[in-house]
Order: sequence, then C-alpha cells, then structure tokens
Amino acid sequence: MLSLEQAQAAIRDRITRATRSQTLALSDAVGRTLARARVAVVDNPAFDNSAMDGYAYNAADMASTQGRLPVQGESRCGNAPGMLTPGTTMRIFTGAPIPKGADSIAIQEVVQVADNVAVFPAAAKNEDFIRRRGEDFRSGEVLYPLGHRITPMDIALLAAAGVSQVEVFAKPTVLVVATGDELVPPGTPLQAGQIYESNRAATIAQLSLLGAEVIDGGIVKDNPETLHSVLAAASNYDFVITSGGASVGDHDVVKQVFAQLGSIEFWRVKIKPGKPLAFGRVGDKTHFFALPGNPVSSLITFKLFVEPALKTWHHGVWTWLELTATTENDFRRSPGRMEFLRGRLRTQDGRLYAHALPGQGSHMLGTLRLTNGLIKIGEESLGFKAGDSVTVVPMTLELS
Ligand code: AMP
Ligand code: MG
Repeated sequence: MLSLEQAQAAIRDRITRATRSQTLALSDAVGRTLARARVAVVDNPAFDNSAMDGYAYNAADMASTQGRLPVQGESRCGNAPGMLTPGTTMRIFTGAPIPKGADSIAIQEVVQVADNVAVFPAAAKNEDFIRRRGEDFRSGEVLYPLGHRITPMDIALLAAAGVSQVEVFAKPTVLVVATGDELVPPGTPLQAGQIYESNRAATIAQLSLLGAEVIDGGIVKDNPETLHSVLAAASNYDFVITSGGASVGDHDVVKQVFAQLGSIEFWRVKIKPGKPLAFGRVGDKTHFFALPGNPVSSLITFKLFVEPALKTWHHGVWTWLELTATTENDFRRSPGRMEFLRGRLRTQDGRLYAHALPGQGSHMLGTLRLTNGLIKIGEESLGFKAGDSVTVVPMTLELS
C-alpha cells in the first residue's frame, strides 16, 4: 500500500498538463490559471508622485529663503506634471505628479501658510514623500509565471500594471458521479434505507471554486452495466471523479468498471480516513479518481489528491501550509496509518492551538460545523496529550 507521499508523487508524475488556452478579460479571470507568463505593461508608479498632501519645493531654495516660499499653483491627481517656478512652492495632493523642478515634499501638517507664503520647518527635506517612478515594478517585468492561479489580490496588481486581458488555460472538464443504491438528492423524502447524497454535492462545490467545468453525472446505482454506460464517455473529459463503491464489498463496482475502461495506477493509500481510493487513467488524457464513499473520507481525499492533481494539470506546483500547533486535548489511537483529524484551530497571544473535535468517524459530518483545519498524525504515532506539539493544516481562514 502506498504512503500519502508516494501516492501524491505518483499522481504528480502521471498527470498530463493542460494544453488548451483562452484569452479572458481580467475581470473574468479570477480562479483561472495563467497559460503564459504575464508582464507589466507600465511602470508602477507610472510617474514620480506625492505620497502625501503637502507642498512641493526644491530643496536648494530653502537656504536662500530661510524656508519661506510663496505658494504658486497646485498639482492635482489626473493632471500632467506642471513646472515649479524657482523660488516658490506648489500645493500638491497624494498621488499627484511631482512638478518639474521640485525634488521634495513637505507634509501639510508641518507647513504654516499665511498670506500665500508657506513657512517650512528648518529641517524640512522630505524626499521620502516622493513615490518614484518604477520603484514598485517596471514595464516588461514578469509579474507572474505560467501556472499561476489568479487570486483577487492578483487582479489588483494586474489591473495596476495595465493588463486588461490574460491568457489562461481552458477549464478542465470534470465528470462527477456518485454511486450507491441508497443515495437520493436532498429535496425528496427518504424511503426506508435511503440517505441523502452529499459527496457529489461537495465535490462539485469544491471544483467550482477551483476553476473547473463540472459535468454532473448524477447518482448511479451499484450496477456495473449502468455505471459502465455512464462512464463510457469518460475519455471526453479531463477528469472523472466518482464517490463510493471503491472498496472491497460485493457491490463495490467502481474499480471493476474503471479497470474495464482504462487502467488503475494505484488503489489504496495508507491514510485514515480515505484508504480505499483508486487513481488511474482512461485513454491518453483522462484521469480518474474513485474516491471513498464515507463523506469525510471523500472530502479529505479530495483535498489530499484531487487538489494537487488539478494544480499539477494547470502546470502549477502544489503545496499546502503545515504549521505546528499546541494540542488542547488528548487523542489516543493505534498506529499503522497516517491520520487526519478534523480540528478546530485558534490563536491566542500569538500561539496556535488545535482541538481534536469529538465525532471523528468518517461517516460523521456534524463535526464539519467546527472544522477549520486538519491535525496530521504520523503513521507510527500513538496519539497525543494536551500540550503536545502537532502538525496542522489550516483549511479555511474564516474562523467562525
Ligand atoms: P461505499 O464506499 O460505497 O462503501 O460507501 C461507504 C459509506 O458512505 C456508506 O455508508 C455509504 O452509504 C456512504 N456514501 C457513499 N456515497 C455517498 C454519497 N455520495 N453521499 C453520502 N454518503 C455516501
Ligand atoms: Mg456504496
């Protein structure tokens, strides 16, 4: 059985990379991945400008005038830079161009103005308040490499750099199917023995946030022929993700059907939850993930395997943030598999604490209400005691 790292490495090595790209308006590009490195169109700042509201002057004029300069003209945002008349000072506002002939800004708080004459304090030489052209980035500078996924923060930088369009990879197409005779969608009353389908619903939601194009294959019965007919079109998609039926039960037909349609690269990973998971290929471009049916296993294996696969497919390098936290309670376990516990992370006085939530069964969703991170426990570990250090992975930065 593969370890987590071996399974992730196998996925990284086998995933094909996106080839199709499209050009999008910057306003449509959040969550998408650059198919070409993006350079700045302009310098930022585009011109020398004032960092403060105040007065622009030439430092050389100070000594001869004892710091008293008549105020002449003003520099406002949106105007082209004017010319400072020698021996005068110009009113200036934050972001406005530095007039030609000026080399200093005094902030208005330190300047006294009476009868249109500005009196500067003796030590006024405040070049600091000039934002220099190009000090942030320069025209032609590479801002982002190919494979970078665009965040809302990146939209600010790209817009400021004069980028109106970006070339991004076409969205990966992902067929999502839930398998199980017991599953019905929420909204219909449950008959005896039925449960509401939640894995496909969550998988679709996660994929949408990751910039994928989801094809909802619905709920399919545990019947090899039916499943085969639904998955027959698998090779049309970049990814196929199923949930359930990947274990060893009599009705676990997913692996069998994938083995007919393509090839299984690995099955089972030494982790808890999520051991029965299959990864493989159909045709020359389609990757499939047969995720386990237990809802928590499905969520965690999506994070551990599908997210890195999508990142790699997009020519990116997947990492996640592992931090050290102090535990707030005890947790005992038997060694053998790497384990991920649902945890509640919090900070206090600059330290990170983790609480292993009660209700860790992989069928138990109630705990998700409080989950904002995972506690990662090594294969050989027997658990931990309150006050021990553990490795945690934040899952959301929203802590309430
Ligand atoms: P399986 O992997 O098919 O053996 O399913 C394991 C457990 O997860 C069973 O209790 C299933 O009822 C449950 N399960 C499987 N698929 C889903 C799903 N899509 N939504 C919610 N529960 C599921
Ligand atoms: Mg099942």
